[in-house]
Amino acid sequence: MTTTTDTSALAERFQETFGTAPDGVWQAPGRVNLIGEHTDYNEGFVLPFAIDKTAKVALRLRNDATVRLLSTFGGHGLVETSLEGLEPGSGQGWSRYPLGVAWVLKERGITVPGFDLLLDSDVPLGAGLSSSHAIECAVITALNELTDAGLNAEELVLETQRAENIFVGAPTGIMDQSASLRGAKGHAVFLDCRDQHVDLVPFDAESAGLVLLVIDTKVSHSHADGGYASRRASCELGAEVLGVTALRDVGVEDLEEASGVLDETTLRRVRHVVTENDRVLQTVELLGSHGPASIGLLLDASHASMRDDFEISCPELDLAVEAAKTHGAIGARMTGGGFGGSAIALTPVRQEQQVRDAVVRAFAQAGFTEPDIFTVTPAAGALRLA
Ligand code: ADP
Ligand code: MG
Repeated sequence: MTTTTDTSALAERFQETFGTAPDGVWQAPGRVNLIGEHTDYNEGFVLPFAIDKTAKVALRLRNDATVRLLSTFGGHGLVETSLEGLEPGSGQGWSRYPLGVAWVLKERGITVPGFDLLLDSDVPLGAGLSSSHAIECAVITALNELTDAGLNAEELVLETQRAENIFVGAPTGIMDQSASLRGAKGHAVFLDCRDQHVDLVPFDAESAGLVLLVIDTKVSHSHADGGYASRRASCELGAEVLGVTALRDVGVEDLEEASGVLDETTLRRVRHVVTENDRVLQTVELLGSHGPASIGLLLDASHASMRDDFEISCPELDLAVEAAKTHGAIGARMTGGGFGGSAIALTPVRQEQQVRDAVVRAFAQAGFTEPDIFTVTPAAGALRLA
């Protein structure tokens, strides 16, 4: 589907396309969220990690305001536009991601000249692995360096959020770009979404004899905008009725009292967020004390909560989780915003093939599109390659 090109081949392709060598090549990874779903915009906790699938950009600053963009991903022609008069809503398709980044930097008062950019990404699109943030994070890392903007990691996270929220118009939190910009090899990123505090938590599945399988259901989550917005609205309503700034401030012990004042649906939405925050904290503790093999039940509980209380799963995700668990996974859950995208299954290496086969078989029997199944490992965050 996507192509992986090594760094020098990408630089050569840039030269062929634009007639000059790039100023450099940068990459930023996609991410998988190990646990902590829909907790980010409730100022809670998440535990994503940067994956070994990345968006690479070769980029060269220009001395006019022109922007030329090309992706190696099929079907997209060269986009040529200008930074002059750029405003939220400008641009189409994937050009909105690099343009959004240029816009937020300009809004900050940073002088951003035009640029030529060649993108090559092997982060699957629309699978819930945040291919869009991988692009934004690679571009902002490159522009931050080339314009001497000097933004630190926390600022880069907030600026990419503004690019996505205001320029692209997608109401997302700070999890994806935090993982992509601040991830580290062999670690998960324990992020407190209230103050952006990050602790890197060792997550070395391989040494524990495990693999983390991603099961891309191929159900596109792009039609989920309404569902996402309504879940956010329920969370805001819950916080308002309970008299707290954000659901982060509600503990598991407060749920019984909350059940007396919230309507049935809002209570279930709130219960998901509150118990999910607690599961993130438990996962971090267990990873530290007992390692990756000990978190299976928490992954399972997270999935059940999203399926039953938050209602953001779908038949394909439920089937992937069920089939994986029945055939050897020690824990499985949907990951990402929901309504499609991917599930993850933490699986003993010796059971990997069995789980893969079982999931493919179950999908065929149900008449679902064949899923794409691959492994991911926690990898480095955004960096310069050349
Ligand atoms: P996700 O971020 O979960 O993968 P999104 O819908 O947020 O899903 O982002 C997917 C969009 O990102 C695509 O529609 C496309 O515009 C853009 N995109 C991702 N990867 C590429 C690529 N390699 N080339 C061009 N555009 C891409
Ligand atoms: Mg996205």
